[in-house]
Amino acid sequence: MATDYYKTLGVARSADGSEIKKAYRKLARKFHPDVNPGNEDAERRFKEIQEAYAVLSDPERKQQYDTFGTVDGDPTAGFDPFRRARARTGAQGHEGFRVDFDGIGGFQDRGDIFGQFFGGARPGRTRQTPRRGADQELAVEVDFAEAVQGTTVTLPVQRQLRCSECGGAGAVGRGACPSCHGAGSVISTERLRVKIPEGVADGTKVRVAGKGAEGARGGGSGDLFVRVKVRSHGFFEREGDNIHTVVPITFTEAYLGGEVEVGTVHGPVRAKVPAGTNSGRTFRLRGKGVRNTKTRAYGDHLYTVEIVVPKVVSPAGEESARRVAELYEGNPRGGLPRTL
Ligand SMILES: [Zn+2]
Repeated sequence: MATDYYKTLGVARSADGSEIKKAYRKLARKFHPDVNPGNEDAERRFKEIQEAYAVLSDPERKQQYDTFGTVDGDPTAGFDPFRRARARTGAQGHEGFRVDFDGIGGFQDRGDIFGQFFGGARPGRTRQTPRRGADQELAVEVDFAEAVQGTTVTLPVQRQLRCSECGGAGAVGRGACPSCHGAGSVISTERLRVKIPEGVADGTKVRVAGKGAEGARGGGSGDLFVRVKVRSHGFFEREGDNIHTVVPITFTEAYLGGEVEVGTVHGPVRAKVPAGTNSGRTFRLRGKGVRNTKTRAYGDHLYTVEIVVPKVVSPAGEESARRVAELYEGNPRGGLPRTL
């Protein structure tokens, strides 16, 4: 008599381990003898389901069955669908337990089965609780300009994913899952495009929701945090959302006033230097700084002027300099304290 185990579980012959397991759990829950007391039909179905799963969840037996349409010996020998769950929770005293087909009473630990199938809230049972996957963090380095303007980086992200071979159980039939070696999860590397927002500051962690480790038992995935290191720029210095630069000016520009070009992260800006500007004075260009990633408002550009002195000393220059000296009203250091 040929038994169609796939039909018994209501799955296609191409069904993978997790589909088979899912179908089995659903049916076992429905036809469990404790849910159908005195119902012989349900009991018979339950046994059939157990037998089908015992074969299809075991790679060796499944292959034998797929090839010959039957398996040698007792198809359920050594079959224990709950072994993994106990191993995970560390429950004791079930060595040698196997599904007993001689009667409902053969179930040695109904609570265990119920915990498995019905999410039974027995004290100390936590395996049904959804567990969120862990957050993951990785670092990326970007140029100053990329940070100011925003960019997209492609990162190889190693994620811990539920093993598709065993559906996260770690076991296929009686043996450890060959794909994950019993871990229930595998590490996969995927290339992930991550948007680095305009104005990101050095040390910022950009969150990519749901790209951390995969959760277990219906729990959501963790998040991925990309820690951004921003390379410094030789000219533009950032402080918060503001940019600082030093702008050299001539004595003439400082004395007479004028218009100078100030380079900003948004491009060059013509800026006024008032007459009589001292070296070291700082001016502000509003809104010419870096965009704040939260408020979306732009910071300012602050430029400090520095009067440069001509390198070449000529007789004509010497003459001019002496004339300049006459313009000062007394000693510029006259009002300073001479000591403590
Ligand atoms: Zn696996």
